[in-house]
Amino acid sequence: MAAIMALPENVWSRIAAGEVVERPASAVKELTENALDAGASRISVTLSDGGRLRIIVSDNGEGIAYDELPLALMYHATSKLREISDLERISTLGYRGEALASLAAVADVEIRSRRANDAEGGLIRTHDGKITEHLRINCMQGTRVQISDLFSGLPARRKFLKSASGELRRSAVFIREYAVCNPSVSFMLEHDGKEIFSTDGSGERQKVLTKIWPEGAEIQPVNIQSQHMTLECWFQSRAGISGRGDIMSFVNGRAVNDPVIKSAVSAAGRELAGNWALFFTLEPSLVDVNIHPAKAEVRFRYPDEIYSLLHNAVKSLGSPAYIPGITAESAKSPVKITPSARIQTPQTRSGWNFHDSEQSISGTKTSSHEENIFAEIENDTGESVSFMGQNSGGYLVYDTPEGLVIIDPHAAHERINYERIKSSAEKSQNVQKLLMPVILHPTLALEAAEFETALKDSGFELENTESGVEMKSVPSIGSVDFEPEALLRASLRALKNNHDGDTRNILWRTWATMACKASVKLTTKLTHDEALILWRSLHECKQPYVCPHGRPVMIELKNDDLLKRFGRE
Ligand code: ADP
Ligand code: MG
Repeated sequence: MAAIMALPENVWSRIAAGEVVERPASAVKELTENALDAGASRISVTLSDGGRLRIIVSDNGEGIAYDELPLALMYHATSKLREISDLERISTLGYRGEALASLAAVADVEIRSRRANDAEGGLIRTHDGKITEHLRINCMQGTRVQISDLFSGLPARRKFLKSASGELRRSAVFIREYAVCNPSVSFMLEHDGKEIFSTDGSGERQKVLTKIWPEGAEIQPVNIQSQHMTLECWFQSRAGISGRGDIMSFVNGRAVNDPVIKSAVSAAGRELAGNWALFFTLEPSLVDVNIHPAKAEVRFRYPDEIYSLLHNAVKSLGSPAYIPGITAESAKSPVKITPSARIQTPQTRSGWNFHDSEQSISGTKTSSHEENIFAEIENDTGESVSFMGQNSGGYLVYDTPEGLVIIDPHAAHERINYERIKSSAEKSQNVQKLLMPVILHPTLALEAAEFETALKDSGFELENTESGVEMKSVPSIGSVDFEPEALLRASLRALKNNHDGDTRNILWRTWATMACKASVKLTTKLTHDEALILWRSLHECKQPYVCPHGRPVMIELKNDDLLKRFGRE
């Protein structure tokens, strides 16, 4: 064997580059991620000959300073990571500082960029991995990166590329994924002068999905939480359509092709065949994104939760059919409280509240001496439902004309809060003035300043005063009471970890999680009135059968079943 020798840079850089840039689509992916990391709200991708000839990605993001352009092209130079501990909580898509350097090793690169506050922008060009030009130019704010003649110096690699349409298809997959993941960013993909795909950046994920999935079948959302993560799941049934469904999965805004998620989805898919888009959100420290060269695989600290989230998503999507005995009709029939009961519905104990605004009369005390008045409620068909009691296990038992219904009050309350929060978050502006403004701790005030617009848009009103920053209003969230500062802190935490840009969506999910924690416990003793209000509020929900985590809310023992069991049929 020959003697050991360190490889010269032009050799090792190409070897390293091969891991990052495998084909045109990997360049498209890296450049799009850079644009997203730069906070762009508009990203356009233009390909020639499937990207084999030219790839141009332009964005309106924060831009690169003239002086820093050569650094951007250097290996291991990044603006996204500073020290080893940052690796524990990566919140950007890039962090290794490899992409542009790798591209320069295998193609000609040209970058034009200008930061918002710079009068002039800069241009830099490379050929054969060397900088050939670096000058000041006039250009728009943002960054435009052009990659030409990919792999021209590596004929063996070039041979492995597919046809132009094959390469285009791969790039289109990435762009579609990022568009679904970032509905507030408008994307445009153009190939040889023809527009292939575009989104309007309106922030509506469902709208993006309708562009990607086949027309016809309804697209259903379901949101589920487990101890350490939340899952926003979109599903389109493929019942009656042959072939495998489309699966897109994202972890903290990063598209991943992860074996754990895949096997959980395929287990779920056996029960419910269709197209899936899954968005997992969790603390960055609970997932290691740094185990794969293209960052496609990740390692979860609590992989079991992935399975249980998907299992619950399937149950929730599959319901109501999956809870035996409850048909959509029987539980959907609107339940009305008789006039006397409605007037006398009392305010419930503090900390939880089933009332709609019509009934909320703060300060009224619970009066339980007239329980009998409330013991019966009528539904539209004149059939009555009566509350029989709460058993020692905490479950509520109701008698209905069709049979007995047993309700888990905690799960029911979670469902009610969840839907109220969701619907109030969907309304444009819902603000609740605080009687006493809350003065924020300076650190909290600083953090809040960073997300000023998002907070303001969602209903937090903050004002600089002599005594510091005062919080004057908070979002009013579906008649669920939160401690104002706790609400602000939780919202800030969510905004910091937010990667998909859709702040409203992120926020209401956070509030829903808080509401779940504040829901009545199984051990809470309910009065007759409360039990009846709970029944009514629950039946006003769109999805009364399962709690947001996918557990059943009610079980019905049909009269027919009882007869059978007692041997009378
Ligand atoms: P990484 O994304 O891992 O940091 P890259 O090689 O992809 O590494 O990019 C190097 C650096 O160049 C980034 O850290 C960023 O500062 C800058 N950069 C690259 N693309 C853009 C862009 N579209 N807008 C603003 N800055 C960019
Ligand atoms: Mg990058």
